[in-house]
Amino acid sequence: MAATYHQYEVVVVGGGGAGLMAALTLRGRDVAVLSKLYPVRSHTGTAQGGIGAALGNMEEDHWEWHMFDTVKGSDYLADQDAVEILAREAVETVLELEHWGLPFSRTPDGKIAQRPFGGHTREYGKAPVRRSCYAADRTGHMILQTLYQQCIRHQVKFFNEFLVLDLLIESGRVAGVVALSIADGSLHVFHAKAVLFATGGCGRIYQITSNAHALTGDGMAVAWRAGVPLEDMEFFQFHPTGIYRMGILITEGARGEGGKLINGRGERFMEKYAPTLLDLAPRDIISRSIYLELRQGHGIGGKGYVHLDLTHLSREVIEEKLPDITDFVRTYLGIDPVKEPIPVQPTAHYAMGGIPTDIWGRVVVDEKNRVLPGFYSAGEVACVSVHGANRLGTNSLVDILVFGRRAGRDLVRYVAENDFPPLPPRAEENAEQWVARLRAGRSGSAGRRTTVAELRDTLQREMMDKASVFRDEKLLAEMKEVVGELQQRYQEVTIQDRGRVFNTDLVEALELAFLLDCAQTVVAGALARQESRGAHSREDFPKRDDQNWLKHSLAYRTPSGQVELKYKSVSITRFQPQERKY
Ligand SMILES: Cc1cc2nc3c(=O)[nH]c(=O)nc-3n(C[C@H](O)[C@H](O)[C@H](O)COP(=O)(O)OP(=O)(O)OC[C@H]3O[C@@H](n4cnc5c(N)ncnc54)[C@H](O)[C@@H]3O)c2cc1C
Repeated sequence: MAATYHQYEVVVVGGGGAGLMAALTLRGRDVAVLSKLYPVRSHTGTAQGGIGAALGNMEEDHWEWHMFDTVKGSDYLADQDAVEILAREAVETVLELEHWGLPFSRTPDGKIAQRPFGGHTREYGKAPVRRSCYAADRTGHMILQTLYQQCIRHQVKFFNEFLVLDLLIESGRVAGVVALSIADGSLHVFHAKAVLFATGGCGRIYQITSNAHALTGDGMAVAWRAGVPLEDMEFFQFHPTGIYRMGILITEGARGEGGKLINGRGERFMEKYAPTLLDLAPRDIISRSIYLELRQGHGIGGKGYVHLDLTHLSREVIEEKLPDITDFVRTYLGIDPVKEPIPVQPTAHYAMGGIPTDIWGRVVVDEKNRVLPGFYSAGEVACVSVHGANRLGTNSLVDILVFGRRAGRDLVRYVAENDFPPLPPRAEENAEQWVARLRAGRSGSAGRRTTVAELRDTLQREMMDKASVFRDEKLLAEMKEVVGELQQRYQEVTIQDRGRVFNTDLVEALELAFLLDCAQTVVAGALARQESRGAHSREDFPKRDDQNWLKHSLAYRTPSGQVELKYKSVSITRFQPQERKY
């Protein structure tokens, strides 16, 4: 089937918070948004706890404190020029959302209500501060609905359920993308002056994860295959409180409202690990503490979980401020959190790494931050880097909106100054061959069928065992082998559904390739980085090593499909690295 050709000045890939914010900034211009999901099903809609901004509605607060907390939380790997923008522009961003009609929870006198969150403090670490602006525990849902309504109001053009498979680069400039229409299996070439990737994270490389099924790292992998490096992929955040065995998130807001973590001996164990911030220490620290407790046999009944206890809070606080998670716990565990503690374990949550960009969302491709003209990225898929080695809660919603908007603004300039680049000849060829191969399928060497589910399950389980909260050389080296083998076996994957209409079998097969690429870069970065920093914790190198490792990693794809690592410096402006105590 021949591909259909389209032309737009800007193509935004992704209809989550980052993509919609960029599209809104470009409203009234020649822009199309492509999304594999219907936009309001994007993962942004599941964000619970809130969006951080130093509004100071409940108590004194300043953007400088927010900046400091973010830099310290990042274990000093974040680029401080970018963090300064994040903390400053957070304030106007939240007010803009309010003006667009977002129904924030309120204080009795009508201001936007704010609650404490992990790692957010007053006076540079003295005590927790109330900085997270929230709409009960449905903040992301409200943000996504508000942005989508604004997009509809401004008649933004959407191509929903279009799966982007390839990035087109011609004469050193990005020239568009190739996408599969999931509805009818047709291929589409979008010729553009500029492309923005806002495709979200890759949490599905792990078995226990808070991430939705669609978070398969597509944008990261597509960019990587096109020659763009991926930055800091070894840093993957585990959120301390996923529902035991299921990984479904229980927001940090539950601890912000006063929830406590308790081990099998009835102890509030965070007193040992973070005496000042306790259960509101940053996530990397709490997740490690839980693992250490479990290893010592201090899980509940010796099992692989601890308790998140809300039973000392009033029914009103639990049901009014945390209605959705109360519902989850009642539905999935048959437990009433008003009366019983919740079994939790760390769950894979957030990719700190991604496509490297500058503070305008422009993708940069080497140690000297050389821009690839016409390519932009924002949101979880990107690495600007404001989260460094560990992200603070509430800072992703800020990141996607602040940098989604900045990318939109720079795109306005870029498309005014540039013409359409030429399209490569037979632009759809790569995507066409890939899809055709999967459709044709062939059996493995022993005549055995290799299925997507089998390979994906192995990947997710092994990543959990060998490359999650604690890591060491032996396990990572084994994981490298596993990914290599799975990539070999991927060549033999067959799909059962040969149809064209809503072929989810085909979609999952395509997504599996993206997952494998992401896992490969995570493992390569983790194996090389011989230190412990933020979410990357090497048992064989337990200390942070600023002398040798205060630098970002850049993973490139070699022609034979291996990873080559290079490094680039961290931007340090106001805060020199210190020991990280909480
Ligand atoms: C359960 C949960 C709770 C969270 N709570 C909070 C919180 O309280 N505060 C906070 O700051 N952060 C929170 N986070 C993190 C935060 O929500 C996400 O990092 C952020 O929303 C990501 O936004 P995004 O726009 O980058 O991507 P997403 O919202 O994930 O959107 C990605 C978009 O890309 C599209 N896409 C992907 N691949 C393709 C492709 N190949 N072709 C076409 N389209 C594609 C999808 O259709 C989707 O529209 C939470 C995350 C989770 C999982």
